[in-house]
Amino acid sequence: MIGIIGAMELEIARLREMMDEKKEEQISGVRFTVGSLFGRPAVLAVCGIGKTFAALCAQTMILRYNPEMIINVGVAGTLTDGLSIGDMAIGSFAVCHDMDTSPLGDPVGLISGINMVEIPLDGQMREAFEECCEKEGVRHLSGVIASGDQFVDSGERKAWIRNTFSAIACEMEGQAIAQVCYVNRKPCAILRSISDSADGTALDYERFKELAAEHSTAVLARFLRSEEYC
Ligand code: SAH
Repeated sequence: MIGIIGAMELEIARLREMMDEKKEEQISGVRFTVGSLFGRPAVLAVCGIGKTFAALCAQTMILRYNPEMIINVGVAGTLTDGLSIGDMAIGSFAVCHDMDTSPLGDPVGLISGINMVEIPLDGQMREAFEECCEKEGVRHLSGVIASGDQFVDSGERKAWIRNTFSAIACEMEGQAIAQVCYVNRKPCAILRSISDSADGTALDYERFKELAAEHSTAVLARFLRSEEYC
């Protein structure tokens, strides 16, 4: 079974429409839909905004449905000139930009306990998504995705995140999902379409989030449809 998590309804709605033999379940306020997507067993969830809901959802999905892998799909702000609105950011690593125990001598972003800043994401799925983007004609870039409980909307914060973590995109859930997957030894991927430039143009987000969500759905559908992957 493949697990797919989006933060918002608009990131998951189209996939749910494409799903057959649907069954719904609500756990801790999260809507899970189980069924078949292009002939593959799958579970979809809308986790809600931010790292806490994202972690709650990922852990519940693992305990309840035990998917072989989890894909986080959705929209994000760009941190680089190499990614514009509608382009796809594919995660190689996930970092948490608002985790900071540096006054104690730790590197910024360190996740104590597992003692890592960069949580590795699945390389095979990343390569498959890169291929799917090519086939869909969607521009894409792979790299570090930075998550935090903050809508990034200033040039200063954007530059800080980019420079501190060499990150290419910012959002609010991916790293939490990746961290939960890491400690549960589940392969995880992050696929985010750019909705805004993360620097004082929040209106972009309102205008382009639907388009961005469409792109990430199209690439994911291409991945799920293809026999080559999984
Ligand atoms: N109250 C709003 C909050 C949306 S937050 C609502 O419920 O719809 C923005 C969402 O888009 C988050 O899920 C985040 O992952 C993503 N996102 C898009 N652009 C972002 C940016 N510039 N900074 C942080 N997250 C961003």
